[in-house]
Amino acid sequence: SHLENRSVVVIGAGPSGAIAAALLKRKGHDVLIIERQQFPRFSIGESLLSHCLDFIEEAGMLEAVQAAGFQTKHGAAFGWAERYTEFDFRDKFTEGHGSTYQVQRADFDKLLADQAELQGVEIRYEEEIIAADFSAARPRLQVRCQDDREYSVEADFVLDASGYGRVLPRLLELEAPSSFPLRRAVFTHIEDNIDDPHFDREKILITTHPELRDVWYWTIPFSNGRCSLGVVASAERYEDRPLDLDACLKELVLEAPNLKRILKHAKWDTPARLIGGYSANVKTLHGPGFALLGNAAEFLDPVFSSGVTIAMRSASMAASVLHRQLTGDAVDWETEFAAPLKRGVDTFRTYVEGWYDGSFQDVIYYERAQPEIRRMISSILAGYAWDARNPYVAEPKRRLRVLAELCASQETA
Ligand code: FAD
Repeated sequence: SHLENRSVVVIGAGPSGAIAAALLKRKGHDVLIIERQQFPRFSIGESLLSHCLDFIEEAGMLEAVQAAGFQTKHGAAFGWAERYTEFDFRDKFTEGHGSTYQVQRADFDKLLADQAELQGVEIRYEEEIIAADFSAARPRLQVRCQDDREYSVEADFVLDASGYGRVLPRLLELEAPSSFPLRRAVFTHIEDNIDDPHFDREKILITTHPELRDVWYWTIPFSNGRCSLGVVASAERYEDRPLDLDACLKELVLEAPNLKRILKHAKWDTPARLIGGYSANVKTLHGPGFALLGNAAEFLDPVFSSGVTIAMRSASMAASVLHRQLTGDAVDWETEFAAPLKRGVDTFRTYVEGWYDGSFQDVIYYERAQPEIRRMISSILAGYAWDARNPYVAEPKRRLRVLAELCASQETA
């Protein structure tokens, strides 16, 4: 079959693929994206963090995103029974964007992909990578089209931005187990009809189940009067629940008094869906001729909405290392890409683990926290998890332990 020659091939046109492709194209490289689906297509992951706007801006797409009419987001709110607390991203330790967006991903991902195309990136939709050969000097990918026709592309370098498709981890046997237990999310979109004057549409609301502290809900308002609503729990928490997903989600939502109150006029008009086993890891983020971006590499957990931010950060870092490699510099993907990327991912990991073991929840729901400490936490929640000047980034484990102990002891005092 026919063989094509390109410089950079990107697998997948989601946020990490679109950003990486645009950044490389802006530096003058030939870039081809192969995307399995037709856009717009549904994706989960609708609440963005501030830090991802830095990469949207770097890729020349900020004005288009700002003009698209998405719901402005200024922070994260947390509710647990009668407790309520909020973090405002405009009030944080690290410099950077104070606001971001809550987006319907079908529209958002299409907008980014269209922007990349406008900048000269070629995108082929409804074509799928089905095989990869990295044994020769130049990697070769096998592509299958909608009509079952197949062809090959040879490239200088392949960026895998295939998200949950995990194309190269599967084909090159790079998959590794996640350290997180198997959890599932059941979610839907609703016509929310929220009239509670205290409800802030400009924040994501994370709700802790009143008794089961490892069970939590997201409420992500959009700009069109609708909300994304979901619950996350480990597999055994779903035992003895209705098998019907709509009934299961409703039952769980009604157990949270704040959600029951806020959503009392909601119209449940969309069948609930389930996604599980999403936490994943890999043995390496790079190898000769390839690097893994976004969810094609590691995915932690949805609780702090860090997925798109990590995906875009990995895209930006990979694009700059690859640009130097393609222009003849000697680069070291481990020290220049993998290790520095992992530092921020590990920061998030510490707080995700602390969320589920309760220590970070003790901190979040603690009512008398010092403003300066809250500003440091706010930075991390806004996505600035790579800013080592922030003590809660530089030493996350120790800082979290000390703070959680302090909050717990004050709480009982
Ligand atoms: P994706 O957006 O998944 O894009 C990958 C693309 O690759 C897809 O379009 C796919 O069609 C294509 N592809 C796959 N296989 C192939 C193939 N073989 N050939 C060609 N193309 C292929 N993140 C947030 O930032 N905020 C949130 O609020 C949030 N909530 C979440 C809630 C849940 C329950 C879960 C599970 C995740 C959540 N996330 C959230 C994470 C978010 O969904 C991902 O991190 C993000 O979509 C990753 O982007 P990506 O570009 O890496 O991959």
